[in-house]
Amino acid sequence: MDNSISSSLKKIKVAWRKKSNLASISQDWPNLVGEKLAQNCTPLALKGGILTIGASHPQWRQALIYTRIQLLESLRSSGHKIKDLRIQQYYPQKITKIETEKSIWDKHPSRINSTGLKICKSCQKPAPSGELLRWNKCSFCRRIELSQ
Ligand SMILES: [Zn+2]
Repeated sequence: MDNSISSSLKKIKVAWRKKSNLASISQDWPNLVGEKLAQNCTPLALKGGILTIGASHPQWRQALIYTRIQLLESLRSSGHKIKDLRIQQYYPQKITKIETEKSIWDKHPSRINSTGLKICKSCQKPAPSGELLRWNKCSFCRRIELSQ
């Protein structure tokens, strides 16, 4: 390796050599794994040198598994003493939000099926005729009725 490169790498390593804890890894996270991974994967825990990373989506979990060796090298060369990585699916709580029944309906046009639709008398929305026949109202209205 070229001397000037190796000495500047050394400087970077020295600058980044600090106590390896979850907070410092979280802080360096975009530098360590890259912006794109950092947005979709989060360092969750560091215990006994094993870093647990949570991925927001199965695809990102796969991406993490494929780049595991590079990630380990990146962490180590940045001065973090990581023995191994553990990768798991992680659902950030902020994603959870309460949806209105209407938005659920709007997002699920597949509910409209070949069995035919009729208008629910309670909410004036189209509903499978089977539901109306069974409960005299659509499944949404039925659910509201049951929860009362
Ligand atoms: Zn209804």
